[in-house]
Amino acid sequence: MAVLVTGATGFIALWVVDYLLKEGYEVIGTVRSQEKADKLTKQFGSSGKLSFEIVPDISDINSFDHVFEKRAKEIDIVIHTASPFHYNTTEYETDLLIPAVNGTKGILNSIKKYGSQTVKRLVITSSFAAILDPSKLADKDAVFTEKSWNPTTWEGAQSDVSNAYRGSKKFAEKTAWEFLEENKDSVNFKLTTVNPVLVFGPQKFEEDVKSQLNTSNQVINIPLHSKPGDKLNNSQGNYIDVRDVAKAHVLAFQKDDLIGERLGLSNGPVNTQGVLEVLNEKFPQLKGKLADGPTPGEVNKTSGASFDNSYTKKILGFPFISLEQSVYDTAAQVLKKEGKL
Ligand code: NDP
Repeated sequence: MAVLVTGATGFIALWVVDYLLKEGYEVIGTVRSQEKADKLTKQFGSSGKLSFEIVPDISDINSFDHVFEKRAKEIDIVIHTASPFHYNTTEYETDLLIPAVNGTKGILNSIKKYGSQTVKRLVITSSFAAILDPSKLADKDAVFTEKSWNPTTWEGAQSDVSNAYRGSKKFAEKTAWEFLEENKDSVNFKLTTVNPVLVFGPQKFEEDVKSQLNTSNQVINIPLHSKPGDKLNNSQGNYIDVRDVAKAHVLAFQKDDLIGERLGLSNGPVNTQGVLEVLNEKFPQLKGKLADGPTPGEVNKTSGASFDNSYTKKILGFPFISLEQSVYDTAAQVLKKEGKL
């Protein structure tokens, strides 16, 4: 039997695929082109345990049908990670909301059509974006938990690109829980969602380190490439390392007590100043060469709402990678690629 991982080229998905292969699973990855499949085959090596199917665009509601038509008998676990995560658009519906929601609807419909009896577990990569209430982000007294839901409407999600991304995750995740409720008598699978905050950490393969990293790692990459005098934005939020995110995706289907849960993945607050602090401390060669930072003395202080994920920490039961380690590993990989380490 095999695990289907959608969006296998993604920053998080590559670590999920790696984790699954190391645990001995057969993995089927969906990617958008044959070229991407060929690249991943080379990168992971040909163990015979990894194969690919092409899904060019999850905005097409039927995009996963051919995968299940062909391979439903092999697939007993599905990990759906594919979803756009970027802020480079003004076409919020077309580029963010519709692909996220249709991707989720599409995988659910395909499972119902072709794998209703064979797929046992579905893990969906949702996000803290589906949990937080943007209107309370600056409220120091607001505490979000795994039970919280972003209250945005479809229209409200089109006010700006951040809200569009957050809405895309909220509506995609809601689609899944509602589908399960409506179809509980006609499908066999159990659902768990993984809801990470900002995900830091190295790329699975150093050759994929580019001058611009994936969206969340830019919070490290921008200060890493700053110069004295630069005015940096104060990015603030919570962080989690990608290797812990991958592990949580696998435990999500392995452990029966995680069925029906939303796993809120966070290892605490971070801000740009906190990232700079680690860079200066861990890389003495950078000292004096980076910007001072936007909030001197305010290291990893966030000015607003917090996220209480103590329940998830308890049910997952493994310690998360520290901020120092996560920022160090991310930056060290970049510096190595640039020949500076
Ligand atoms: P990436 O951008 O690295 O990965 C996104 C993946 O989705 C890629 O494989 C991409 O394919 C695929 N994809 C995007 N749009 C489409 C589309 N229209 N059709 C088919 N495939 C598509 O991001 P991450 O790894 O960071 O994110 C993965 C998941 O994790 C997303 O669901 C994201 O919302 C969620 N997440 C991420 C967080 C983070 O901080 N990184 C935090 C919380 C949740 P391709 O590479 O070919 O474009």
